Amino acid sequence: MLTAASWPGIIHDEYDVVVAGAGNAGLVAALAAHDAGARVLVLEAAPREERGGNSRFSGGIFRCAHDGLESLLGLVTAESAQWKDRVRVDPYPAEQYAAEYNASSRSRNDSQLTRRVIDESFETVRWMAAHGVRWELSVGKLIDPENISAEERYTLPAGGALRAAGEGVGLMSDLFAAVERAGIDVWYRSPVSDLLMEGSTCRGVLIQRAESHHAIRAVTVLAAGGFEANPEMRQRWLGPGWDLVKVRGTRYNTGAVLAAAMRAGAMPAGHWGGCHAVPLDADSPMVGDLRLTDKMSRYSYPYALLLNSAAERFVDEGENEVWLTYAKTGEAIRAQPGAWAFQLFDAKTSHLLEPRYSTGSPVVAEDLATLAALLEVDAGKLADTVDIFNASCGGGRFDPFSKDGLSARPPGQPPKSHWAQRIDSPPFVAYPVTCGITFTYGGLAVDDSARVLDTAHRVMPGLHATGELTGGFFYHNYPAGAGLTRGAVFGRLAGEGAAEEALAGAVGTP
Ligand SMILES: Cc1cc2nc3c(=O)[nH]c(=O)nc-3n(C[C@H](O)[C@H](O)[C@H](O)COP(=O)(O)OP(=O)(O)OC[C@H]3O[C@@H](n4cnc5c(N)ncnc54)[C@H](O)[C@@H]3O)c2cc1C
Repeated sequence: MLTAASWPGIIHDEYDVVVAGAGNAGLVAALAAHDAGARVLVLEAAPREERGGNSRFSGGIFRCAHDGLESLLGLVTAESAQWKDRVRVDPYPAEQYAAEYNASSRSRNDSQLTRRVIDESFETVRWMAAHGVRWELSVGKLIDPENISAEERYTLPAGGALRAAGEGVGLMSDLFAAVERAGIDVWYRSPVSDLLMEGSTCRGVLIQRAESHHAIRAVTVLAAGGFEANPEMRQRWLGPGWDLVKVRGTRYNTGAVLAAAMRAGAMPAGHWGGCHAVPLDADSPMVGDLRLTDKMSRYSYPYALLLNSAAERFVDEGENEVWLTYAKTGEAIRAQPGAWAFQLFDAKTSHLLEPRYSTGSPVVAEDLATLAALLEVDAGKLADTVDIFNASCGGGRFDPFSKDGLSARPPGQPPKSHWAQRIDSPPFVAYPVTCGITFTYGGLAVDDSARVLDTAHRVMPGLHATGELTGGFFYHNYPAGAGLTRGAVFGRLAGEGAAEEALAGAVGTP
C-alpha cells in the first residue's frame, strides 16, 4: 500500500478531519466535524462550477418521520407555509417509514443502519435547518396545483412531503453557504486517488491533481458517491447493458474512492448488482446537465400505460404510490428492446402530468393508429394491447392523489392495481422514455456509527463513510427521499465520530 513517505516530492498537509466528496453527505459531515471543534478540509473532484454532486441534481426530497402537516409547518419557509389550508399531509410514523423501507428492499436492508436513518431523520432535518438549510412542502412536484380545483385537497405523499427549498440546487447552495460561514476549506479539482494506510488504520488521503500529488494527514470521512457514472464498473457489477444507460446526475461519481477503500481493506456491503434507475426522457443527455437537473425524469406513468417497442405492457404501472415504484421502473425499461418504452396517456389524465414533462417532446395523435405510426410501433398490436386492457377496466372513482383501487387484470398482460382507466379519449399523448441510472446500491460496510469495517468485520481506525458510497441500505428498490436522508444522518455521525477521534489524538499524525 502507498504511504506518504514512499513518494518523495509529494506535498504534505495536515488537518484534523478530511472529507472526500462535497455532496450533501460530505458537507453535512464537514459541518458536524467543525461543530465538534475539528479543523476540516473538504476535497472535491469537480471544479467549483460543477460542485455539489448528485445532491445538486436532486429533487431535494428528504424522507423523514414526522407527525403530519403541523410538525412540518414549523420547518418550512413562510412562502411554503401558505399552502397549509390547501394541502393534506398525513403523519408519517417511524413504523410506517420502516415498513415501506423494508418492503422496498425486500427486507434485505441492514436493520440497524435502517433504524438509525429513520430514528434520526427528523432531528437531522432540524439540525440542517439550524445550519441554514431552508425547507418547503413538495407541492407541485408530482401534479401542477394549477390543474387542481380550489375545492380539492392537494395530498402530499406523507413520506415525500418535505424537500429542500429550491430542490437540490437550493440544498447545495445552502450547505455551501454554511460551510463558507464556518470557514471550512474546500479544495476543488482535487480527486482522492488513494488512502494513506498503516495496517488497517487510515491516516489520510492522497490527492491526484493535474501536476502534483498531495498527501493530507487527517482522520478521514469518505463521501465520494457511488459508481453510477463509470460504464466499466456498471457493466462489471450491474451486468451487461448497463454500460450504455444514461446517467441522471454528476459525471464525477466514478467509484474511484470506493475502489481505493476496498484496496485498503474496506469490506464491500449491500446490493452490488442493484441500483436506483428511473424512467427518463428518451432524448435526455447521456449524463446529467446542471441546466436541467432532474427535469428529464418522467414519473406520471401510474396514470398511463407503459409500453415497449412491441406495444406490450411489462409492469404494473399502478402497483403503489409512485415514490415507492419509480426507482425500480428504470431497470424494467432497460430490460426492454433498445431500452426504450413509451408512456401512453389520454385526455382524461394528460393534465395531471408532472410539470417537468414540459421539457419533453410528446407524440400526440387523435387516434391510436396515427400515434403508432408516429412512434414506429405496430398499430395492430397497439390496438390489441389497449383493447384488451380497456375491456378489463372496471368502474369506480379515480383519485390521482391516493391509491384508488381502480384495478384491471387484463389477460396476458401485467395487472394494473390502481388508477386503471380506459385509454379511449383523444388526443392520445405518448412520451418516449429510457432508463436513467441515479445511483448504485453497493458500497462500503459501515457500522451504525458510520465507521468503516474491514474484511475481518473490524472497525478501521481513522476511517468513516457516508452517502452513496456506503452499502447495506438499499436493495432492489428504494423509497423516494431516503438517499439524501441517509447521507445526512450518517454524515452527522461520520463527522462527529471523525472529529472525536482526531481530537482524542487516537489516529492523527503518528
Ligand atoms: C436527478 C436526481 C434526482 C434525485 N432526487 C433525489 C431526491 O429528491 N431525494 C433523495 O433523497 N435523493 C435523490 N437523488 C439521489 C441523491 O441525490 C443521492 O443519493 C445523494 O445526493 C447522494 O449524496 P452523496 O453526498 O453521497 O453523493 P453526491 O452528492 O453525488 O456527492 C459525491 C461527491 O463526491 C465527489 N467525488 C467523486 N469522486 C471523488 C474523488 N475521487 N475525490 C473527491 N471527490 C469525489 C463528486 O464529485 C460529488 O461531488 C437524486 C439523484 C439524482 C441524480
